[in-house]
Amino acid sequence: MNSKTTSQRAASILSLVLLLAGAGSYSQSANDPPAKTQIVFLGTGNPSANPDRMGPSVAIVVNGTPYIVDCGPGVVRRAAAAARLGVKGLEVTHLKTLFVTHLHSDHTLGYPDLIFSPWVLGRKEPLEVYGPSGIQAMTNHLLLAYKEDNDIRINGLEHANATGNKVNVHEIKPGVIYRDENVTVKAFLVKHGSWRQAYGYRFETSDRTIVISGDTAPAESIVENCNGCDVLIHEVYSQLGFKAAKEDWHKYLLSFHTSSRELSEVATKAKPKLLILYHQMWFGGSTDTEQGLLNEVRQGYAGKVVSAHDLEIY
Ligand SMILES: [Zn+2]
Ligand SMILES: [Zn+2]
Repeated sequence: MNSKTTSQRAASILSLVLLLAGAGSYSQSANDPPAKTQIVFLGTGNPSANPDRMGPSVAIVVNGTPYIVDCGPGVVRRAAAAARLGVKGLEVTHLKTLFVTHLHSDHTLGYPDLIFSPWVLGRKEPLEVYGPSGIQAMTNHLLLAYKEDNDIRINGLEHANATGNKVNVHEIKPGVIYRDENVTVKAFLVKHGSWRQAYGYRFETSDRTIVISGDTAPAESIVENCNGCDVLIHEVYSQLGFKAAKEDWHKYLLSFHTSSRELSEVATKAKPKLLILYHQMWFGGSTDTEQGLLNEVRQGYAGKVVSAHDLEIY
């Protein structure tokens, strides 16, 4: 009895060590000397209210300056958690540049959080937002919705500043949409079902080229924009889950998202040095797991691939 318990315990410790070793082979610790460019996953989830995975949001931190891609629910608190782990660039009041891939709610429910929380906590600069058409209207509605809050904070006893709650909205077209001393950002259209505009982004810094898919069905634009990039961050759903899903979900998944098998084809052509899965969709049960999803991608793709979790740094 005792020996069985001990061996079970040893097995679970071993699997934990293997799990950590697997994640550790490509991810960084916040205590490592920071690469010039860090990728910090603030949220790797999807619409599911999974408490371990916030809504999709990725921070590209270059020389300590953060550039946020998408703002799912939880974005500001995850940034605060990353800062606490040692990524000083993600101090909440430093969050002032946002790129939105598309306007699905799972990618934007943290938008008012990103507009207002850093301001309430002291940010004086407006938020600069780059995204598809429609982001201006969404912003106008949110500013109106919180008008009374803002008036009370600015004119009342909280003495909030009257500048950090502003938003400068940039509705973008494909091409280079942003450039500063740290980074050049190019937007390109991807294929996300009935959305007229859904963007992927390519970040070029002095030490890395990073492509992030946002939500997309298999898209040639991902292949063209990665084209041997350092890191491709791509959404994915499991083939096993697809097989088990009902017919009407098949249509949705095929036109809005990318299966593991399709992603292995995209990645084989795109040739990233590292492929990172995020916004992962597997559907549960004993076999449809995160590891199963990774195995499915590896069946058709020989390159390095990992599956991201919230607060991992690459
Ligand atoms: Zn999504
Ligand atoms: Zn979407």
